[in-house]
Amino acid sequence: MKEKLTANQRRILEVLFSSAEELSAQSLHQALKQQQQQVGLATVYRALKALQLIGKVQARPLANGEYIYSIASAHRHHFTCVNCGRSLPLQECPVHDLEQQLAQTQQFQVFYHTLEFFGLCQNCTQVNAAT
Ligand SMILES: [Zn+2]
Ligand SMILES: [Zn+2]
Repeated sequence: MKEKLTANQRRILEVLFSSAEELSAQSLHQALKQQQQQVGLATVYRALKALQLIGKVQARPLANGEYIYSIASAHRHHFTCVNCGRSLPLQECPVHDLEQQLAQTQQFQVFYHTLEFFGLCQNCTQVNAAT
């Protein structure tokens, strides 16, 4: 499948590619502004949605209801602390085989997956134990 990307979609992808971190729509908007691009925030959201639909971008919801975005090919596996909100990336991908299996048995076109564990991080466990 070959898609034609708009200029804005391409710029957003470039920013996401060069960013080690997941970015909010606002940060992407800022980044485009710094490239002297006159793009409205609504346009950024539209471009992100379009990129999601073709499997180029993934969105992760934060606790506050906002989304942060990254390129779809980046694996996102996190351990998130329910106390301090710290998110630690997991290095291993435990569901790679399952993804392939699903793609075959469900005839579902899988773009990406995310995996998130919740609990207390080491710091917060220690604080809890001390009190
Ligand atoms: Zn914590
Ligand atoms: Zn994975």
